Amino acid sequence: MSNFNRRDFLKISGGLAVGATVVGCATNLGGAAKARVVVVGGGVGGATAAKYLRMMDPAIHVTLIEPNKHYHTCFMSNEVLSGDRSIKDIEFGYAGLAGHGVNIVHDTVTGIDAEKRMVKTADGDSFMYDRCIVSPGISFTWGAIEGYDAKVAEKIPHAWKAGPQTVTLRKQLEAMRNGGTVVIAAPTNPFRCPPGPYERASLIAKYLKTHKPKSKIIILDPKDKFAKKGLFTQGWKRLYGYGTDNSLIEWVGGAAGGKVESVEANNMVINSQVESIKADVMNVIPPQKAGKIAFSAGLVNKKGWCPVDVATFESHIHKGVHVLGDASIATKMPKSGYSANIQAKACASAIVAMLNEKEPGVPSYQNTCYSIVGENYGISVGMIYKYSKAKNLVTPIKGSGGVTPKDASMETLKREAHYAHGWFDNITHDIFG
Ligand SMILES: Cc1cc2nc3c(=O)[nH]c(=O)nc-3n(C[C@H](O)[C@H](O)[C@H](O)COP(=O)(O)OP(=O)(O)OC[C@H]3O[C@@H](n4cnc5c(N)ncnc54)[C@H](O)[C@@H]3O)c2cc1C
Repeated sequence: MSNFNRRDFLKISGGLAVGATVVGCATNLGGAAKARVVVVGGGVGGATAAKYLRMMDPAIHVTLIEPNKHYHTCFMSNEVLSGDRSIKDIEFGYAGLAGHGVNIVHDTVTGIDAEKRMVKTADGDSFMYDRCIVSPGISFTWGAIEGYDAKVAEKIPHAWKAGPQTVTLRKQLEAMRNGGTVVIAAPTNPFRCPPGPYERASLIAKYLKTHKPKSKIIILDPKDKFAKKGLFTQGWKRLYGYGTDNSLIEWVGGAAGGKVESVEANNMVINSQVESIKADVMNVIPPQKAGKIAFSAGLVNKKGWCPVDVATFESHIHKGVHVLGDASIATKMPKSGYSANIQAKACASAIVAMLNEKEPGVPSYQNTCYSIVGENYGISVGMIYKYSKAKNLVTPIKGSGGVTPKDASMETLKREAHYAHGWFDNITHDIFG
């Protein structure tokens, strides 16, 4: 179990300078004090794990460290861009988690010492743990697109972390003239939410169709295929004239030179391999990697993602630290909120077993990605995954899941949109309620 005992704790806390606090001590469950889990990041993975740990074993002391007082879900943030939702509709606080007995700390984690089993924060506090869960989401590979960095992203938003950037992009769309050009630069694989850029194009088109019908969206893409491509393009044909001269959406794939090479922020020009486009609104979604703390804690591989045991999500690099959600390499599972939520439950269950000196169970996983293409028009792809211990793999179970059929009726597509909204209500309640 823990390699840190109460005597060590007293030594450290007694020797600390004023202003820095060591919170908690690692123990085993047989002792007087509770076992401690520290969760880094209060997004989908972290918040779900914290809540489920408390529900599965109220004897465990759970501290969740998250800098922001409110979390904005990326899911349905594209409906903020279309004007179908407000930013408040995708905003969630942490009172629900506190109600489950989770100790909420608003701070930024700056370091994780896996040897000492200690998490350090920007405010100078330290938290001891028996097990640590890290779910920091993504960070961006600045420099991959010349002229596009964190500073430029304030003016030309990526809006790939929902919140202020979502609001900026919405305001830019509202201010754009009728007849304007919106350019979306899609990222290289792997990235958060594979259907996300294409749902975004659909929902911006939905807004433009009614309010600025002479406008155009150009998706510049380094890839030649994308999630649910056949279903998206079918929907775009039906709703936005895709494939005609008057189409609201144009998609330029990798083979046609869609890879973006540079951005000239001052001129609002975006340069792909074959053309330079003067845009009215630009949405550049850069290549991605694990959240920053995963790098400073030494949890990443050469590609910038975190290798884990896909049954427990324990890091292959640091024992006692579990990495969930987008930052982890969950083999065949996509980087989605649905995945992060279900991984968090498997991880919480494994940690409860481990802290109670039992073998973790064998997990199975599930993911469904809904996308809204237009008014009363939704599509989805779902899959159930099995775990292979020998290969440390999570692979789709043949014949399970499925996608919206291409010949689905309009009634079915309408229902898919309803299911998407129902899923949003359910998962946000499951995470934060
Ligand atoms: C436009 C868009 C649409 C999407 N739609 C869907 C969808 O329909 N369905 C779906 O399943 N998924 C969707 N996703 C994907 C989904 O949002 C992510 O996969 C999910 O949020 C991943 O959860 P996470 O816990 O890994 O990261 P996050 O939810 O991003 O949480 C990370 C948290 O960690 C915190 N954090 C980071 N660093 C630190 C630190 N050092 N200290 C403390 N806290 C820290 C952050 O503040 C943040 O709150 C969408 C994404 C986008 C961009």
